[in-house]
Order: sequence, then structure tokens, then C-alpha cells
Amino acid sequence: MGDFLKLKVRWNNKILQITVKPQDTLADLKDMIYVITNIEPHRQNFPNLPTSANLWDDDYLLQDLDVNPDFVLEMADLLCEPLPSTSTAEPSYDFIDFSGFNTMLQPSNVHAGSGDQLVFDIKGFKSLSSPRHGKKLIVLDVDQTIYDYLGPTRHLAGRPFLHEFLAGVYEDYDIGIWSATDMITLENKMEALGMTTHPDYKLLFLMDKYYMITIPMEGQMVRVKPLDSVWAKYRQFDKMNTIMCDDLKRNFYLNPRNGIVVSPYSYKAHHKDDELLDLLSYLKTIANCDNFAALDHSSWKK
Ligand SMILES: [Mg+2]
Repeated sequence: MGDFLKLKVRWNNKILQITVKPQDTLADLKDMIYVITNIEPHRQNFPNLPTSANLWDDDYLLQDLDVNPDFVLEMADLLCEPLPSTSTAEPSYDFIDFSGFNTMLQPSNVHAGSGDQLVFDIKGFKSLSSPRHGKKLIVLDVDQTIYDYLGPTRHLAGRPFLHEFLAGVYEDYDIGIWSATDMITLENKMEALGMTTHPDYKLLFLMDKYYMITIPMEGQMVRVKPLDSVWAKYRQFDKMNTIMCDDLKRNFYLNPRNGIVVSPYSYKAHHKDDELLDLLSYLKTIANCDNFAALDHSSWKK
């Protein structure tokens, strides 16, 4: 096999020719397809993948694909109707060559642990309660937004006023947590912080890195959190009533009108950090707004 592998992927009666490196994984391929089709990785299904690898084997190495040059990988969108039967018309071709910047693609962070770990990792989503009628949605990041993983104790790890903040927010918002880690680590953090058992609020869901996608941004490929993935699960939420809070602005690059940048939290500044009180005040102020995307959240502290 040469340095590169040219794959043909059929989607929506088009043939996408994608150049990948042999060491790329199925997750890398999904990220590339997302860039072209806007279909998120977790929605992509490959019904004729000629191996035991399937939708969930994101660590599968593409170099292990044993196919002839004419093989066409079928790609279906899990959230859409099945593809129409094969047309006799010649499909159109889009040639996408990723080989030039493929080295910048981050490999999937999904790691093969024990069988149980893998199951948790690949699901990437956990529902903890039911959405409440009439509530808005806040999607909260964890590390450096409400938690410092460098904190030596649980007390110092959780951002000051965390529970006051969540209880106050819960009056107007359902609370989703989206972290760029794996589900087991995320659940452990939520449990350690007492966020899954607190009497004054409930969490709506947990999402992990599996739902993050890789996109090109300013010459680099970066991982971001597309709110479309949340909205696909909860039809009552959309850009009008969803707000994402994250210490990394790039995480809501695809939804810039629905993001609030919070100052990164460090346990070393625990004694003087009141960011969550300020954030609660702002979220209370906008809670009755009909369209969050119409607001300028960049100056939320002013
Ligand atoms: Mg963060």
C-alpha cells in the first residue's frame, strides 16, 4: 500500500473521493466527511463497510480496509430517510484531498479500555432527567469552566458558588453538561462535585468528547462542540433558547451567537473567584428573552 489511500464514499447520489493516510482511523474519516457534508460523525453509518468494523468502531484503522480501487463506501445519515435506490445515472464527483493537512487532524480520543469503558465512551451521551416544559437550555463545559482538574481537593476543584449557580440557573434553564473528556471521567467528576445528587437542581444530560467534531479553523483542524448535536436529541431546543458557556470560545465556533465565554477557572484563585455569580446574574437577565441568538453575548460582563 502506498502512502495514501483514496476512498470513494457515496452519499446523496454523489461520490466523494477522499484521500486519507493509512494510519487514519474511521473517526478521522468521519471528521473529513463532516467537513464536506455537514453530517455529524455520530450520524454517519456505513452499511457496506467490508469488515467487522461498524458504526461504533471509531479506532478502526483505514489501512486495514481490504478493498479494490473500485470499491465505493456507502454512507447514510442515521437521522434522515434511507438513501433512494441506486440511480442508473452517472453520479457526480467531488474530489476532496485531505492529505495536505491531514497531519493536523487530531486522532480520535476514544480509547480502547475495557469493554465496559468502550461502551461508555462510544455512547457519548447520557440522559439524567426529562426536559421541563417552558425552560431554556444551558450547555455547560466542565474543565476550567466549573472545575479545575488540577485542584488538590474536591473543595478547591469545584468553582466557587457552583451549587448556588446551578440551583439559580435551574429555575429558568434545563442544564446539560458537555465535556471534552470520556463519559466515565465526566460521570466521576459530576459525582465528586455532588452535581448528580444535589437536591436543588437536576442535570438534563451529559455529553462527552464523542460528540465533538473536527473542523478547519484558521489553518488548523480543531475540535468543537456543535449544538446541532444537542438539538437533534431535544427538538424543543434550538438557537432561540439555548446558551453554551465555555472557557474556550472555539468550542462554539459553529454557534457563535449562542455562546458565552467565561474566564478560565484556576483553583489557585479560588478565594477570589466569583465568575459564576456574575454568570448567574447575566443568565437571569436574559432568561425571558425570546431569541438568544439575537443578543450580543460578547459583552455579558459589562
Ligand atoms: Mg473547558
